[in-house]
Amino acid sequence: MKLTINAAKCPQNHKCPAMAVCPQSAISQTNIYALPQIDAEKCIVCGKCVKFCPKGAFEITEDK
Ligand code: SF4
Repeated sequence: MKLTINAAKCPQNHKCPAMAVCPQSAISQTNIYALPQIDAEKCIVCGKCVKFCPKGAFEITEDK
């Protein structure tokens, strides 16, 4: 499984609040208008950001 961010759901107009709940510091954002990025090396796919994001922009997908 891996975590992805759906750009169509993320408004990309504020600091990503999910960065604060990630236990791995796997979410980063270059500026408040940027789509957040996931560091796949750090992400443990715990799902906290998925539950936290009010826009439902974080998605867990099965590896193909
Ligand atoms: S799934 Fe968990 S570890 Fe991965 S980015 Fe989201 S909060 Fe961080």
